Amino acid sequence: MVQGVVIEDGCIVDVNPSTGETIAKVRVDTPETVAAAIAAAHAAQPAWAATPLAERIAKLKAVCAVLLADKDAMAALITQEMGKVHAEAVEEADGLAKDDYMDLIAAANAPQQLENGLVVREAHGVVGVCSPWNFPCDEPLLLSLPALAAGNTVVLKPSEVVPLVGAKVAAALMAGLPEGVVQLVQGDGVVGAALVGGDVQMIGMTGSTATGKKIMEAASKDLKRLVLELGGKDPMVVFADADLAKAAEDAVGNSLYNCGQVCCSVERVYVEASVLPAFEEACAKLATDFAAGDGMAEASKIGPLVSSLQKEHVAAQVDAAVAAGAKIVAQGAVPGGSAGNFYPATVLSTPLDSTIHKSETFGPIVALSSFDGSEGEAIKLANDTEYGLAAYVYSQDLDKATRVAMGIKAGQVGINNWSLACAPASCPWIGQKSSGYGYHSGADGWRQFSVPKSLIFSTKEDLGTQHKAAE
Ligand code: NAD
Repeated sequence: MVQGVVIEDGCIVDVNPSTGETIAKVRVDTPETVAAAIAAAHAAQPAWAATPLAERIAKLKAVCAVLLADKDAMAALITQEMGKVHAEAVEEADGLAKDDYMDLIAAANAPQQLENGLVVREAHGVVGVCSPWNFPCDEPLLLSLPALAAGNTVVLKPSEVVPLVGAKVAAALMAGLPEGVVQLVQGDGVVGAALVGGDVQMIGMTGSTATGKKIMEAASKDLKRLVLELGGKDPMVVFADADLAKAAEDAVGNSLYNCGQVCCSVERVYVEASVLPAFEEACAKLATDFAAGDGMAEASKIGPLVSSLQKEHVAAQVDAAVAAGAKIVAQGAVPGGSAGNFYPATVLSTPLDSTIHKSETFGPIVALSSFDGSEGEAIKLANDTEYGLAAYVYSQDLDKATRVAMGIKAGQVGINNWSLACAPASCPWIGQKSSGYGYHSGADGWRQFSVPKSLIFSTKEDLGTQHKAAE
């Protein structure tokens, strides 16, 4: 996505998107320091991999406890650095690092017993983690925790937009784990490319599809393992028989959460034609309450966009849609005279072939269109994109909703709900089509951070004596 971070005199100029003020200057790594970080991670890896799984998990749980105890400070930093409203920042800081989550990762990594053998998990080695800015605390953890649990060491490169949150996450990991197991490098895509091109065995990256393609190409040189979680253009289908009040609330809430800067934001809403006027009205009423403002102010329901370039990108998409026949149904308030990157919460009613249906918006836009109410048309429209991350279907006829969900090519489909809010911790998180390659959650996702290795014994009895040694 569009970021526009300034790097001056070898430092990231870290700006508060609500005020335009510089909050820090953070030194960017060089090819030499990236190589040194990778070498240090390699030096620490054999001992970490030899540490029993239960001990690795216990240490990671302790790190998570430290992060949770510090969640207020983390939330304040998230709001200051990337702009999301404080309540959402608290949700993020409080969201992931829980004991039961680590227990699920432990179970996924446990050896599996065969009749006269064991399938054990072997770490890849050093994993390079490149994370995005939109969930600056959770995204690095979603990739680093399973990588570390599996016995890899990690070189973390947080997004250049959020170097301070990234450094805070890394500091907690470094303080709680043996020396060298976690390394931090800072910088933009140049530093990311140096990490991908370095002596790492796997890359875990969450970010845009364009960056994912570059990483895949670079990683092909020595067949590095990849988990790439990429962009989305998530559709929501609303049939006339849905609970329309709830559907409107979810369409607005989930288009505007984090100012629309969520990979699984609702980006296109297809409403059965007979109920579109009433639905537009309901969305308009709801969206006008979403006043934009500094994320620390209680009155703010959405924060700023992360950068001025991102604001220009969203404005250009809306302007192009309007020029092509879309109508602005409603807009929320923005603070006057602010240097922040505020864009109003906007409800658009757009023709079906609008450009706003094609590329990721990542902004506070509720884009409504009508469809004929048939299941076939709903599936066709929902699939009319290169992406396949999430989708949403609203109907009180659960058979119909499930049939439509089955027809949509997406990793996760919320049926009368938003999948991000309702998915259990054990749920895989998958981008189909251009939304990803590999995936990072659920037992199968966590297992991608290691390879299975089969130990086959002559007899069951021989296996019995070796079970412990293989853990
Ligand atoms: P981005 O692609 O610009 O950057 C992601 C990370 O990759 C950053 O750390 C960046 O510095 C690094 N990077 C950039 N070029 C690189 C290169 N050549 N080699 C290695 N690393 C490189 O993405 P972003 O703007 O930070 O994040 C927003 C995007 O992330 C959106 O498209 C959003 O949909 C996506 N996203 C996806 C998920 C998911 O789970 N699928 C979750 C969150 C965000």
